[in-house]
Amino acid sequence: MTEAQAGDYRILHEAALRDYLAGLPDIAARLGNEPVSWSITEVGDGNLNLVFIVKGDRGGIAVKQALPYVRLVGESWPLPLSRAHYEFLALSKQAELAPGLVPAVLHHNDGLALTVMELLEPHIIMRKGLVAGTRYPRFVDDITTFMARTLFFTSDLALSTAEKKEAIAAFAGNHALCKITEDLIFTDPYRIAEQNRWTAPYLDALAADLRDDMELHVAISRLKLKFMASPEALLHGDLHTGSIMVTESETRVIDPEFAFYGPMGFDLGAVLANLLMAYFASSGHERVPGERREFEGWVLETVEQVWNEFARKFLDLWRTKAGGDAYPVSLFSGEQGAARLEIERQAYMQRLFTDTVGFTAAKTIRRIFGLAHNIDFELIEDPKQRAISEARAVRLARAMMVETGTYRTIADVTGAARKLRDWMPELSN
Ligand code: ADP
Ligand code: MG
Repeated sequence: MTEAQAGDYRILHEAALRDYLAGLPDIAARLGNEPVSWSITEVGDGNLNLVFIVKGDRGGIAVKQALPYVRLVGESWPLPLSRAHYEFLALSKQAELAPGLVPAVLHHNDGLALTVMELLEPHIIMRKGLVAGTRYPRFVDDITTFMARTLFFTSDLALSTAEKKEAIAAFAGNHALCKITEDLIFTDPYRIAEQNRWTAPYLDALAADLRDDMELHVAISRLKLKFMASPEALLHGDLHTGSIMVTESETRVIDPEFAFYGPMGFDLGAVLANLLMAYFASSGHERVPGERREFEGWVLETVEQVWNEFARKFLDLWRTKAGGDAYPVSLFSGEQGAARLEIERQAYMQRLFTDTVGFTAAKTIRRIFGLAHNIDFELIEDPKQRAISEARAVRLARAMMVETGTYRTIADVTGAARKLRDWMPELSN
């Protein structure tokens, strides 16, 4: 259900939200028919929007409303409400392509920048589970299905030129959100920027190194250009472990407000970077040395399986569901054509892997020196211990970004991570 009511925007806090929802028969029926008895709690822990959980005697819902500014910073940083429209569009597309892996949309109002969704319960934000050392046996299969299907079916391997260009256009207006990524991930951590922060004083020298490291500046700028100028597929755009809600048996991807047509490696890199950061943070959460070793082993195995399973599923879709205008069938006919195309598919995956390695690195460095940090590191209480974990992650990230070509397989990445587990960085101070 979409209602375009431009000009109607107002922030719906508790009473107004109750009245609004009471006016939606399907939603009211789902909650139970006594609006006065609904409980309404604001739970938004994100950086940008309001999220309410509403519960009645029959059931619950989640309501997300965009604010006309960045919640984390305030009214001084305006941000278009239209991001709620793109989030709704992306959620709808993802539900179609990867059924059961996103929350169902129950209602959307463009004018209010408001979406009512299925309540995910008892799911928790995956990042919190990882900090606690919990393993998620469903995760690899679910996240690789999500990425393989959403990326393949929105690419030129599956769509005609007309469909693909129309789809790019439908998301092109979400450029303010792209610009946030371009600034906060691909630019600010490498220069002096007011919003940067890091674990001072321990990482002061490392932060200064990043600002002088021209090899790194070239590498991050190439990645930035790839992000800006490669509309390969519909990206989630912010696919970190804080955008994934899990139980041990279910996985749901939330919060695609950064969705746009971009390079596939960016989503893959987001998942891998956040797993690798969970790995490097893990020793900082030990109460007894070594007690999280098994968990850490699971995280690295998960990193390997995420890439390997993604590649397997993506290639399988390409072999069986190709219907787009890229790689025309007529150019690869017969046995010889089939064999040559298969070699080309492998080469395509190798290029995608290389992109993924670079974006993994970019997504790591921004969480340690930029505006938005993550609780994997932030919840390590002793700042010196935190800095040690962060410096290990940065060492890997720097190598992955500058010497990308030496990481040929995902085992090269996990092997390098394993070697850095107990490496002692030189800290400032
Ligand atoms: P933001 O865009 O501001 O980052 P999110 O979409 O990430 O907002 O949502 C913020 C928080 O609200 C999530 O971390 C999660 O705890 C909660 N949340 C969001 N959607 C749901 C949902 N469908 N069911 C339950 N909780 C949700
Ligand atoms: Mg968000």
